[in-house]
Amino acid sequence: MPLIYDYYLQTYVANILISVNPYQQIKDLYNSATIKQYQGKSLGVLPPHIFAIADKAYRDMKRLKESQSIIVSGESGAGKTESQKCILRYLTDSFAATNAGPIEQRILETNPILEAFGNAKTLRNNNSSRFGKFVEIHFNNKYQVTGGFVSHYLLEKSRLCRQQRGERNYHIFYQLIAGSDEQLRQQLNLGSPDAYHYLRHGCTQFFCSSTTEKQIDAGRCADLMKKQGAMRDSVVDDYADFQKLKKALTDIGLTSEELLGVFQTVAAVLHLGNVAFVDDIDDTKGGCKVDAASETSLKTAAALLGQEVDELRHGLVSRIMQPTKGGVKGTVIQVPLKTYEAANARDALAKEIYSRMFDEIVYRINKCIPFADSVAYIGVLDIAGFEFFAINSFEQFCINYCNEKLQQFFNDRILKQEQELYDKEGLCVPHIEYADNQDCIDLIETKGAGILDLLDEESKLPRPSAQHFTATVHQKHKDHFRLAIPRKSKLKEHRDIRDDDGFLIRHYAGAVCYQTALFLDKNNDALHDSLEFLMEESRSPFVKALFAPNSPSQLSVLESPSRNGASVAGKKGKLGFVSVGSKFRSQLVSLLEKLQATGTHFVRCAKPNSDMRPKQFEGAQILSQLKCAGMTSVLKLMQQGFPSRTLFADLYNIYSPLLPPELARLDPRLFCKCLFHALGLNDRDYKFGLTKVFFRPGKFAEFDQMLRQDP
Ligand code: ADP
Ligand code: MG
Repeated sequence: MPLIYDYYLQTYVANILISVNPYQQIKDLYNSATIKQYQGKSLGVLPPHIFAIADKAYRDMKRLKESQSIIVSGESGAGKTESQKCILRYLTDSFAATNAGPIEQRILETNPILEAFGNAKTLRNNNSSRFGKFVEIHFNNKYQVTGGFVSHYLLEKSRLCRQQRGERNYHIFYQLIAGSDEQLRQQLNLGSPDAYHYLRHGCTQFFCSSTTEKQIDAGRCADLMKKQGAMRDSVVDDYADFQKLKKALTDIGLTSEELLGVFQTVAAVLHLGNVAFVDDIDDTKGGCKVDAASETSLKTAAALLGQEVDELRHGLVSRIMQPTKGGVKGTVIQVPLKTYEAANARDALAKEIYSRMFDEIVYRINKCIPFADSVAYIGVLDIAGFEFFAINSFEQFCINYCNEKLQQFFNDRILKQEQELYDKEGLCVPHIEYADNQDCIDLIETKGAGILDLLDEESKLPRPSAQHFTATVHQKHKDHFRLAIPRKSKLKEHRDIRDDDGFLIRHYAGAVCYQTALFLDKNNDALHDSLEFLMEESRSPFVKALFAPNSPSQLSVLESPSRNGASVAGKKGKLGFVSVGSKFRSQLVSLLEKLQATGTHFVRCAKPNSDMRPKQFEGAQILSQLKCAGMTSVLKLMQQGFPSRTLFADLYNIYSPLLPPELARLDPRLFCKCLFHALGLNDRDYKFGLTKVFFRPGKFAEFDQMLRQDP
């Protein structure tokens, strides 16, 4: 690999690392020797590297006695998760306690677990994380790793029941099918991926690497791969990953019964997905029944979920209602569901079971990585970047809302604070304009009139509808600069829908047209009561625990040690359910509070091309990503600004002992002026503030070099 290639891949703008996905393993780039090399080195001493950012965060934490965070951003496939893993490995490898137990190992083992349940193959990334995470590494008073904590955000639930052609469901389903032994397979009644409705419509192929091909030569996995076909990926390998997963789950403390409970639950989701419904012609109320052809699936699902077959059947095809009249609750009645309603109830159940299991697993991960003696932490945020597709729904709305908040934070930290410092030091540097996006954030999150609250309000109406919700949004914010009615053609391109079915938001990174048809459903992920009661009473201890009222999924996922706060989400309030949007808003508030309280470092990941190919750089595509990440405004500021600075007092302390006593008698500021004059520095390259001297880009290094030679 020629060195020049590496230079294209990583560079700094000020202290922000820009990292381009190489789409190939670069020899020695992340090995232990490289880790050692970067330890304790200032930024810029060695070539730009993700380890250099990790080390800077560590040194800042130690020097300032303050927690740090590293915000890794970029679009799907840009390399965020790989970068996060590199940072975690750097920190756990470099700063382990000498008598460290398995803590570092456990922190690293969170990856195979989270990826099995939360990652999937998409068209953009074979190992795409379908949830956001903030992973904290905690340090003790000796600044050695002492624990960790994972917070997670917005797991993509829709993927469980449907995937685009060419995409897969979560890796765990394929891992379980490829990796389970004969006994487990029989216990779970597992077939191949094409036997399952929830897998069949996307892609049923396995991932495999050449090493595992050898390992599994004669096994069932080889047969399966022949049947379903296998894809190659340097990171994902269903068979091998399943073995790693089992070990990792055991290491974080799951008993063999619990492990079985997890696998039973995963298999139950698959079998549940195969339960189909048909109109019940004997039912006068227009109800439906389970299709005879899927009786076996129903039986298996019921057994795996610890349910009586007929109770589950009943729960799926009907719901209980308790009408209220004049505030008085009437008698409970059974309402038969129509075929499509039963199918929706089944999907809602599958999603709920899976997402509660995901919450439980994250909870268990956190439980096994203690942090009792934590004094500070370094948190790494890995969350989806700005998204806009041909059709954008509630998921894109939430993720773009999150990116607006992060962009504001970035602006605040990098741009605003920089200019405030120039002003404070009296540098007289012209102000740089950057787009303030507070109005966009207000449009979404303001209490009462913001889009999120309007959506919750709509759910409370007797007959909520997408049209009414959309019309209310337009009406409440008629002349809002950020909001517009989408052009008809935009919404109608793909489906025949009405004009008031959406809105357009002018985000900081561009306008996005949202189709609101499914906003109400996606915002309310509550199960209907009959199914919820059934699950609470499950005979399977694992399932029962998932649905217990005080299970982790019912509590805030943000109760990390660094917050010590009360639960921010999980209160049901007036709605009778916690809406997805309001829960996410609370989570973001907590996240931003955390980020505000830490020193921050930024890594901007970029994708070189859309085909996941090495050595192929599409300039326009990379530029548009850098613009979305706010990098152009940073560059402007840096070009006109003075990115490096140092205190007069520091320079004085270092150099005054080396210089004639007459000079040493000067006050530090005058001392520095004389020093700069004596070195013959060009006065365009630096500026004197009140307490610090500021350098033009690249000039500090020159000055440093001169001083190293001269004194
Ligand atoms: P994101 O989290 O931004 O969606 P990932 O971190 O999952 O993207 O990266 C997508 C894929 O790109 C990885 O599975 C891997 O194949 C490749 N990749 C990313 N970063 C690197 C890297 N530093 N070195 C080699 N390959 C990488
Ligand atoms: Mg990712």
